[in-house]
Amino acid sequence: MDLARLSAVREHLGEGVALMVDANQQWSRADAQRMCRAFEEFGLVWIEEPLDAYDFEGHGQLAARFDTPIATGEMLTSVAEHAELIRHGGADIIQPDAPRIGGITRFLQVMAMADRRHLQLAPHFAMEIHVHLAAAYRHEPWVEHFEWLDPLFNEHLEIADGRMRLSDRPGLGVTLSDQARAWTVDSFEILG
Ligand SMILES: [Mg+2]
Repeated sequence: MDLARLSAVREHLGEGVALMVDANQQWSRADAQRMCRAFEEFGLVWIEEPLDAYDFEGHGQLAARFDTPIATGEMLTSVAEHAELIRHGGADIIQPDAPRIGGITRFLQVMAMADRRHLQLAPHFAMEIHVHLAAAYRHEPWVEHFEWLDPLFNEHLEIADGRMRLSDRPGLGVTLSDQARAWTVDSFEILG
């Protein structure tokens, strides 16, 4: 079923369009082996989270065995966990999430470790932050595009020909919208 679906999408897009698969941690090691093998012929840019996010060894085996790059790391919550993932060779493409691992400084630490292994970088979510960080990486990164956070900001990311344009405004280049203020409360009491 997945193969038929992937086949149809590849045929529809043609060969020139980058295509990735995200398994969202749903496969067992045996399933992941089978799927990665079957997907080799599609020339995917990556297969994302084929296994449980903390199965670093399993990800390492897939990355070593198959040509299709393995992408993972979005669920990890610290620099130390990313270090373990990288030590196991579990990611060809590393997907750190700055808010999830403690902010910009922590993200830069992961980026430095990834750089030493020549990994590719594809940060997870929060493109408003990650586009700036990813732009500082040595190898050309991928940045996920989400519109979910758009109402929070007065400014919006400029995208042209599949590329994000960095703003030259101060900081991250965004200011909070009135809508963001309206959704924020000064205090909230939870009664037990
Ligand atoms: Mg994902």
